[in-house]
Amino acid sequence: MNQYEIVVKGIKEGTHSFSFCIKDSFFKEMCNSEIKHANISAKVSLEKKHNALQLFIKIRGKVNRLLCDVCAEEMSIEIENNTQILIKESYMELDDTDEILYIKPTDHIVSIKQILFELIVLSIPQKKQHKIDEKGKKKCNIEMIQLIEKYSSPKEGRFDERWSTLKNLTNNINIK
Ligand SMILES: [Zn+2]
Repeated sequence: MNQYEIVVKGIKEGTHSFSFCIKDSFFKEMCNSEIKHANISAKVSLEKKHNALQLFIKIRGKVNRLLCDVCAEEMSIEIENNTQILIKESYMELDDTDEILYIKPTDHIVSIKQILFELIVLSIPQKKQHKIDEKGKKKCNIEMIQLIEKYSSPKEGRFDERWSTLKNLTNNINIK
């Protein structure tokens, strides 16, 4: 049995708790995942109340070996996120939303792997960069930044183009 599956059929009313460990192997089946290394714990509780099922998921941990957007060095990012999802039964094929997970009335177990994955992805900030240390200095690798600046020539190229346009312009003016 897949270790990210939860039994939803025939369970008693009340809260059922589960905990999962999310490590590197979790991301192996996730195609095109930028995240490949992590150490995250997920606490999941399934609440059954008057036949309604609700999932509460809390994740906490570290995503490792991500590339810093500023200096391109590997870094770890600490993440923490919570979500609440309603489990609804439907015979129709309905697309899951952020708040609702649809299952077939015949399903006995649900996999929460995709939900966990999306929660982790959403926890990563849009701009990934090294933190600022106690002295107010950014922990980025300065040598790397200098190298990146040295080899990112497109800026210079664009400047040259503009410069020659300007030169042509002044030449035309001189002719007049
Ligand atoms: Zn950096």
